[in-house]
Amino acid sequence: MDTGKSVRGSKKDIGHMKPLELFKELEKKFREAGIESPRSLLFHLFRDLLEIPENKILLNEEIYISPTESEKLASAVERLLAGEPLDYVIGWKKFLNIYLKVDRRVLIPRPETEELVEKVIKDCHKKCCFFADIGTGSGAIALVIAKTVPDSIVYATDVSKEALELAIENARINGIKNVRFLWGEYLLPIQAMLDKIEVIISNPPYIKSNLISNLEIQVRKYEPLVALDGGSDGMDFYREFLKQLPSGKKVYLEIADYTAESLEELVKQHRKDYHLCIERDMYGFRRYAILTPVALVSR
Ligand code: SAH
Repeated sequence: MDTGKSVRGSKKDIGHMKPLELFKELEKKFREAGIESPRSLLFHLFRDLLEIPENKILLNEEIYISPTESEKLASAVERLLAGEPLDYVIGWKKFLNIYLKVDRRVLIPRPETEELVEKVIKDCHKKCCFFADIGTGSGAIALVIAKTVPDSIVYATDVSKEALELAIENARINGIKNVRFLWGEYLLPIQAMLDKIEVIISNPPYIKSNLISNLEIQVRKYEPLVALDGGSDGMDFYREFLKQLPSGKKVYLEIADYTAESLEELVKQHRKDYHLCIERDMYGFRRYAILTPVALVSR
């Protein structure tokens, strides 16, 4: 059957089709538009948007693409060509053991942050009861912890109301009920619960303001600035956070490699009650700042 519908910008009608031809045509178009790794991007798109796996494309087995799917593909191709990140175009992202809906209201969760969450879960032996995730965005950190440690209560905060709306939707989609969402800055929304909260996690904005314009277009044009901009030295969030942090908590922060020294200095000067340990990510960058109450370290 020929539906008469076509992928916009392509003269190919699609209905029953051999996918390799369409794939190659789009690959050429993406390459000409200067898009990096167009093949893997397209395999991903075909798999997640149309449920056509890589082997079906490569074997060039005849498949059927409905008019609706054809429209979906056309609009996705347009958005990708304009520079929008694939994860926003697909509309969801896998993060450890959950699937998150993502759109321009929130930062796309990164693999480095998965590593941060794994550290938290490993250290708490699935026992800790009260956590806080400051700047929850899509809800990534809070929701994985809440799902993995089901007896816990996780307070998830954000300064962005629209991010919180999406995080709440993600909790519902994943059937996770032990997260409490709160709006506000830094530790202010959890003041009343701070005594019982044992572990605080945050992946805050930490990019130096003058570096934002150097970021790739997908990030700088599409991801929320409030999720990225850490002020002139990338340290704005950490400075205020450390002022508000009470003693006696275990804290896990994601950082930029270039903020590691400033953070060490800040903790040395102002938080003698905490011991700071900086750890590297899978790429070898200093990425995690782990604060432990001094009393617990010297025991
Ligand atoms: N935790 C998510 C999102 C990180 S992006 C993840 O790891 O993928 C940082 C988030 O912090 C954004 O959603 C932003 O809105 C929020 N944020 C920025 N400044 C904040 C502040 N002062 N207090 C609370 N949240 C803040």
